[in-house]
Amino acid sequence: MSHYALECVECGRTFSDDSLLRCPRCGGLLEVALDYDAIEVDRRTLERRELGVWAFRELLPVSTDDPVTMGEGGTGLHPCPTLADELGVRSLHVKNEGENPTGSFKDRGMTVGVTKAVELGAEVVACASTGNTSASLAAYAARAGLTCAVLLPAGKVALGKLAQALFHGARVVPVDGNFDDALAVVRRLAEEGLVYLLNSVNPFRLSGQRTIAYEICRQLGWEVPDAVVVPVGNAGNISAIWQGFLDLRALGLIDELPRMYGVQAEGARPIVDAVLEGREDIEPDPDPETVATAIRIGNPVNAVKALRAIRCSGGWAVAVTDDEILRAQRKLATREGIFVEPASAASIAGLRRLVEAGEIEPDESVVCVTTGHGLKDPEIVMETCELPEPVEPDPERIKERLGLR
Ligand SMILES: *Cc1c(COP(=O)(O)O)cnc(C)c1O
Ligand SMILES: [Zn+2]
Repeated sequence: MSHYALECVECGRTFSDDSLLRCPRCGGLLEVALDYDAIEVDRRTLERRELGVWAFRELLPVSTDDPVTMGEGGTGLHPCPTLADELGVRSLHVKNEGENPTGSFKDRGMTVGVTKAVELGAEVVACASTGNTSASLAAYAARAGLTCAVLLPAGKVALGKLAQALFHGARVVPVDGNFDDALAVVRRLAEEGLVYLLNSVNPFRLSGQRTIAYEICRQLGWEVPDAVVVPVGNAGNISAIWQGFLDLRALGLIDELPRMYGVQAEGARPIVDAVLEGREDIEPDPDPETVATAIRIGNPVNAVKALRAIRCSGGWAVAVTDDEILRAQRKLATREGIFVEPASAASIAGLRRLVEAGEIEPDESVVCVTTGHGLKDPEIVMETCELPEPVEPDPERIKERLGLR
C-alpha cells in the first residue's frame, strides 16, 4: 500500500494512478492526500537530518531513493528585527526562497515533480511560466536528461529568468499573450499526451512546495507563527504551504495552525477581490499588469484551493501597488541585507497593509515568504538606481566622492 493517493479537490474521489493531472470523473484539480496512518516520522528524526526538501522524504509522494536533486530547500529563516519594529509586529522572519539552487521556491516543486516525471517515463516536460518555473524546470530537466519545452509571455519575463531557461537548453517559445494564455496551450499539449506538465496543476510539484511549511516549523523549534504572508500569482504556493501545516498537525508534529495571508499586485488581484466579496471562486482578469512579473496572472488555476486556505485558516488577502512593492524591495535590501525580486517584496508590502488594517496585531509573530532572488530581475532595480560617474583613482577625489572627510 502506498502512503498517498491523488484526491480531487472538487468531488473528493481518490485515485492511485500517478499519471493523472485532472480528476477523470469531474475534471477537478488533484492534490496529494497523505495517508497519515502509514507515515512514521517524529521531530527527533527530522531534526537529525540536514534541512531541505528531501529531509521530509516520508511526506513526499515518490518511492525512489534516487531523486533528481540539487539540494533544494534548507533556505534561511531570517529574523528581521529592524523591519519588525518599523512595521509594528513582535517578530518577523523572512523565509528567503531566493536561496534555492535556481533562485526561487519553484525548485522545491521541481525536484519532486521531475523525479516523478522520470518515474513515469516522461521524455518531454513542459510548462508555461512567468519566468521562474521555466528557469527551474529547464535546470532539473537538464539534470534528468529530459527535453524541456517552455512557453513564456513575450516581453514580460525578467532577464535573469530568461537567461536561465535558454542557457539550460530548454526549447523556449515566447507567446503573444499573457501567462494565462500560455498555460491554456500547454495544458492542451499535456492532454494530447505530448508533454508531461509541470505547472502548479501538477500535484507532485505542489507536494514539494509543502516543505516550506515543514521547514518553517522545524526552524522555529516546532513553534507555529501566528501569520504567514505569501505573494500570490497562480496561487499554488499559498495552497501548498497551508497543506504543509495541515500535514504536520495531522502527524502530531505541531499543535497550532497559522493564519494564511495572500498578497497580490493592484493590477492582478482576482484572489483579493474574491476574498473581499466572500466568493468561492474568482472572476478572471483578462489583462493583468504589474511590475512584479512573477505574479502577473489574471486567472490563477489554484484559486479555489487558495481561497479555501485563506478562509479556513482565518486569514485574508490584500493588494499592494507597484510603488509599494518597489519600496518594500528596497527596504528589505537596505535594512536587512536581503535582495529579493519585486513579486517577493509584495509579502513585505502586504504585511504593512495588514498591520495597518488590524488584521495582524502588534504582539504577533509573522513569517513573510520571499519567493525569488533579486538578481532575477536586475533591470527593474537599475531603473531606480543612478549609475555613478567614474572618477580617477585618486585618493582625494575618491574620499570626496565617498563623503569620507
Ligand atoms: C511563481 C512565483 C510566485 C507565485 O507563486 P504561485 O504559486 O503562482 O502563487 C511568486 N513569486 C515568485 C518569485 C515566483 O516565482
Ligand atoms: Zn472530481
